[in-house]
Amino acid sequence: MRGKRGIPDERDALVERLREFIRVGYVTGSEVARRIDTRNAAVYAWLKGEARPGNPKRLADFLDSLAVESSSGIAPTGYEYKPYPTAPKQPRPCPFCRKARGTIKKARGGFQGVCPNCGAIGPKRDTPDDAFRAWNGKG
Ligand SMILES: [Zn+2]
Repeated sequence: MRGKRGIPDERDALVERLREFIRVGYVTGSEVARRIDTRNAAVYAWLKGEARPGNPKRLADFLDSLAVESSSGIAPTGYEYKPYPTAPKQPRPCPFCRKARGTIKKARGGFQGVCPNCGAIGPKRDTPDDAFRAWNGKG
């Protein structure tokens, strides 16, 4: 059993943990890629189940560091944390993967909706409200 293609169960479990962090909006796929120094496309391939992490130790360490941060009270454990309380409604579910609602994130030069599941991004706008409307297809 050992040595052929690593230990897939462990890596699947890691990706599942990663998905959960992304699902609750704690990190985005691109943040993960940046933090563990890999390509965005690689992270999205893991999330879509098309590939497994090549360096599971590094991903595990990263997830452990997130878990420590979140248990210290910095991070939200669900949807109670609302970064933009003025937004009138929730962003619509991602039109690409349909597995998560978008979140409005600050981007270089503005704001844009981002899917926490697959990393799809909406149009960039100057304000969170406009980015929200753009993500929902009304701006
Ligand atoms: Zn998506």
